[in-house]
Amino acid sequence: MIQLTAGLQEIVPGGIKTQEPMKNHTSLHIGGPADYLAVPREINQLKALLRFSQREFVPFFILGGGTNLLVSDRGIRGVVVKLDKNFKEIRFDGTRVTVGAGTSLPLLALKAAQQGLSGLEFAGGIPGTLGGAVGINAGAYGNCMADVVRSLKVITWEGEIIEFQAQQLDFSYRCSGLLKKNCIVLEASLELVPGNPLEIRERMEGFLSQRRSKHPTEPSAGSVFKNLPNKPAGRLIEGAGCKGLRVGDAQVSLRHANFIVNLGAATYRDYLKVIAMVRERVYKEYNVWLNPEINMVGEES
Ligand SMILES: Cc1cc2nc3c(=O)[nH]c(=O)nc-3n(C[C@H](O)[C@H](O)[C@H](O)COP(=O)(O)OP(=O)(O)OC[C@H]3O[C@@H](n4cnc5c(N)ncnc54)[C@H](O)[C@@H]3O)c2cc1C
Repeated sequence: MIQLTAGLQEIVPGGIKTQEPMKNHTSLHIGGPADYLAVPREINQLKALLRFSQREFVPFFILGGGTNLLVSDRGIRGVVVKLDKNFKEIRFDGTRVTVGAGTSLPLLALKAAQQGLSGLEFAGGIPGTLGGAVGINAGAYGNCMADVVRSLKVITWEGEIIEFQAQQLDFSYRCSGLLKKNCIVLEASLELVPGNPLEIRERMEGFLSQRRSKHPTEPSAGSVFKNLPNKPAGRLIEGAGCKGLRVGDAQVSLRHANFIVNLGAATYRDYLKVIAMVRERVYKEYNVWLNPEINMVGEES
């Protein structure tokens, strides 16, 4: 352990924390400690971290904004990597924008609107990073990242940098082939459409105000379950009488049934129990099993 810590510190001086509580890095505020949290400032540090992890057989997890994650109470073994500084660049070139993986998605949507570029209005209220959004093909209001992504620069777990064209990525509903390929997004190139900056801002504001009126204000990870074709999961959950269902401090939101919120001190176990209860009740009522949209990670007890 001491040798590992020293090795990691040599690669990212001042950028390694040990036993770092993941609840401090997730929007749900749930999650035990990561053995190591590494925050590389540039690509060579990331490459060296990957090589080191491979050589030492240390598991590796890439964290974005932590807004789609349910992390176990025991936390994550190995190295959790969060991209910082040089991974947050935004470069506009006509209707193309090249974006670093660590960039905040709402910030990108705002900057695109200011440039008079349309296509990211749906993303103005989706928290988290560009890397996470591409990884799970985040979307809302009938649009998703796959509509705008043209190519990606990624690094493999072996440290090789590769470029993918969008059609190679098998984007589907809240899923991209990326997670299966064990790749880390470094940057994405998006194609947007010229438009009137005021109208773009208005459309984005419209979506944001819909969110403010419908979404809970307590900590959450967004929608917990995937929608079924033509059947919003929230409607099924509400129809099965689950609103307000609670275990410990994990509760099906009273405002939006597809959100399970943390009322204060919810644990992973509480959260999983509520998920299981909701799935059972929806199955009994509608004969369908809901599939989780949130990513569950970490060591099980
Ligand atoms: C209030 C609220 C509202 C939300 N609304 C929406 C919504 O409307 N639509 C929607 O789709 N989601 C929504 N979400 C969920 C979440 O914000 C999005 O899915 C977001 O895109 C996740 O990005 P992140 O950076 O937080 O990823 P994380 O949660 O950190 O990670 C998610 C996954 O992506 C992987 N990942 C992260 N960075 C990279 C990278 N650089 N390369 C490869 N893989 C990576 C992680 O390993 C993990 O598997 C909402 C969440 C909240 C809290």
